[in-house]
Amino acid sequence: MRFDSSIKLYESGKRLMPGGVSSPVRAISPHPFYAARAEGPYIWDVDGNRFIDHCLAYGPMILGHCHPAVMQAVVSQLKKGWLYGTPSELEVQMAQRISRLYPSMEMLRFVSTGTEATMAAIRVARGATGRNKIIKIEGGFHGAHDSVLIKAGSGATTLGTPDSLGVPADSAKNTLQLPYNDPLALEKVLRKFAGEVACLIMEPVLGNIGPVLPKDDYLQAVREITRDNDVLLIFDEVITGFRLALGGAQEYFGVAPDLTTLGKIIGGGFPIGAFGGRRDLISQVAPGGGIYQAGTFNGSPISLAAGMATLDVMENENVLERLNATGDMMRKRLQEILEDLKLNYSVSGIASMFKVFFGPEPRNYIDALKCDKAGYLAFFHRMLEKGVFLTPSQYETDFISAAHSTEVIESTLEAFRTCLKS
Ligand SMILES: *Cc1c(COP(=O)(O)O)cnc(C)c1O
Repeated sequence: MRFDSSIKLYESGKRLMPGGVSSPVRAISPHPFYAARAEGPYIWDVDGNRFIDHCLAYGPMILGHCHPAVMQAVVSQLKKGWLYGTPSELEVQMAQRISRLYPSMEMLRFVSTGTEATMAAIRVARGATGRNKIIKIEGGFHGAHDSVLIKAGSGATTLGTPDSLGVPADSAKNTLQLPYNDPLALEKVLRKFAGEVACLIMEPVLGNIGPVLPKDDYLQAVREITRDNDVLLIFDEVITGFRLALGGAQEYFGVAPDLTTLGKIIGGGFPIGAFGGRRDLISQVAPGGGIYQAGTFNGSPISLAAGMATLDVMENENVLERLNATGDMMRKRLQEILEDLKLNYSVSGIASMFKVFFGPEPRNYIDALKCDKAGYLAFFHRMLEKGVFLTPSQYETDFISAAHSTEVIESTLEAFRTCLKS
């Protein structure tokens, strides 16, 4: 496989853009491949190489690339204009749809990215409670803004230190970190900071250190503890929303949060985010109340048209039933490959999310960090050479889309077997 054109673009690009990329996860070492086009389960680079795409833009492309129904909805919206600066019918339709599928989201607002959605949801929690501190889960990712770009210190009650230069320690001190799958740690920190915590924000299934699943009744316990302590619970369903079930992880696990953030899939591959929840909370967002949020591109007609078309296909064609069954089959086959090859690795995932961890299955962030990162990177490059594009980090989830047929999955599994063996 040759990458001459990608290398040339990278040489020019890296002088103009940090790492030659527009988002750090895309900075594959020693150089990324530059995409030329994508269709169905495949992505082609500028050198003409074709890859089976299991990165799928990190989540949004649940129907695969260039789905005709989405394309048609976007083209037809383009002809009617693409930005109005007034509300449009699409917003009402999408809000009705989301609220029907997510009964906990009695009211909501559309924004342009998942980052904005979590930023606003946290502001709502702080504004409504008048408290400054928030809790997040170690290894949980909620976008790239100050109050969530905080890595763990150690232990449940350690105050956060910034994960990025430029995040004021003053802002970081209000973000507390907790390990996933540990309800006792949550109880302890809420006792210690009683009356100071506005909310707990969490991914119901951790998706940004590879999929890490809730054990036993962890999410139910979290719901009870936050309710008993009068702390708002935010589910960040930017990945799990419309993926685990149409009603997201909250439907799948039967746990209703106070606030929810959505993104990725609901834009059908175009930029979007949404936050919503209890009426008494969201009604306080401007102009209803004093919690400010605004955006030129909020409720973008193109994103909503693409999102509506995506959800139409998903609902009308029972996409998740088929897709989730394919996910179960794939994880089982991967497990068999690991057993055949006597590798001490693990397969994790749920629905259309999967990952081979180069180590035992993690229960939380600290476990996940013990995996063989360098080994994974070498494996990633072998898979790429075999024509399979996995996410380039041990700590990003791999996905399948509705366009990944049984034959495509078989090709991926064959590549897994060959590359894991070598
Ligand atoms: C991707 C992601 C975000 C950020 O969304 P953007 O649209 O990239 O800003 C937030 N939360 C979770 C769980 C995500 O996976």
